[in-house]
Amino acid sequence: KKVYLNGEILDSHDAKISVFDRGFLFGDGIYEVMVQLENGIFYKKAHLDRLQDNLDKISILFDVRDIDDALIGLLSASGLSQKSSLIYMQVTRGIAPRKHAYPKGAAASVMMYALPYELPPINPKRMKAIIESDFRWHRCDIKSISLLGNIMTNEAAMESGNDEAALVRNGILTEGSHTNIFFVRDGTVITHPADEHILNGITRKIVLQLCGELGIPVMERPLREEEIPDMDEAFFTGTTTQIASISQLGDHSFGHGDEVGRTTKKLQGAFALLREKDTAE
Ligand code: PLP
Repeated sequence: KKVYLNGEILDSHDAKISVFDRGFLFGDGIYEVMVQLENGIFYKKAHLDRLQDNLDKISILFDVRDIDDALIGLLSASGLSQKSSLIYMQVTRGIAPRKHAYPKGAAASVMMYALPYELPPINPKRMKAIIESDFRWHRCDIKSISLLGNIMTNEAAMESGNDEAALVRNGILTEGSHTNIFFVRDGTVITHPADEHILNGITRKIVLQLCGELGIPVMERPLREEEIPDMDEAFFTGTTTQIASISQLGDHSFGHGDEVGRTTKKLQGAFALLREKDTAE
């Protein structure tokens, strides 16, 4: 297994980071997850743009254009050029004496790896989700490597035999522990607005774009937990989740058995076609 670390491609066991790295000490960094399909990295530009945007938000000085060549080198060294793979990258504020305030002049630490990964066909399996309190911070728009709130709520889902946790803040459904959440009512797609309480998922953006192309009306509005029973369909989105129908959300069931709702199915079909296209840029 190969790892790209600060300009070098190393065997994973030789890839070492200082204990004084602010990623390790403070969780002071940003990450991205992308998948490479046969035609290239799926929505690569959107992912790298979001990474840059996030780094800018927390003033980590790094230009993502500098990792383009490194990414090609990593994939090649990993034997994954043009092969289905999962790419993880993270940029932290770098190594500095442990003080809260941003250090002056620390060089960002950049780490990436790629693993063989076959993105499954659009998930035919429907997901069961618990509802958990969204006790995360108020800047969920930042794809921070500090993911305690996300992993704790996801663990609660796993522990109780569910597939995901849907998060509720002040009575409003925000997103999943590692996904965005959508609802459908009377043919209209409803999802939380892209503000500081959710991560603006690339898959979320793709779904909204597909709704436009398919003439499906969209409302980006907060949805209250009490409204769940009024909804006809629900689904989660994410880079590896893609578009996954929800069968059970808390006490409420959507549809029966394996039956995926009409609008969800339509979007899944359109998404599957997108995967076949060249979306590398
Ligand atoms: N929301 C959260 C909290 C996430 O961690 C993720 C993905 O990791 C998403 C939403 C979905 O984002 P994307 O579609 O870009 O994978």
